[in-house]
Amino acid sequence: MFSGFLTIAPSCGVCGLTLAHEDAGDGPAVFVILIYGFLMAGLAAWVELSYEPPFWVHAVIFVPLILGGSALLLRPFKATLVALQYKHRVAGFENEPDGPAGR
Ligand SMILES: [Zn+2]
Repeated sequence: MFSGFLTIAPSCGVCGLTLAHEDAGDGPAVFVILIYGFLMAGLAAWVELSYEPPFWVHAVIFVPLILGGSALLLRPFKATLVALQYKHRVAGFENEPDGPAGR
């Protein structure tokens, strides 16, 4: 369903469902920030309180972990939000017929 890193293709390559009108907006970034950010902040606090490493150790561990993890999570969160828009028939999916699984 993606035609670029985070760009949704105009239509599904398998079933042809029109995806051009999806509207995930900032939703994926919000969920990644709130969920992954919460986990990383907790992990950083735990590392600091448990081992008291110098600052550069935090930088070496958490900068790539936070940037890489966030980038990896954006796609599945975006795909999930578009799937939920389709399931609940919102954001341009209002007139899509029910599939074999129904709603
Ligand atoms: Zn499809």
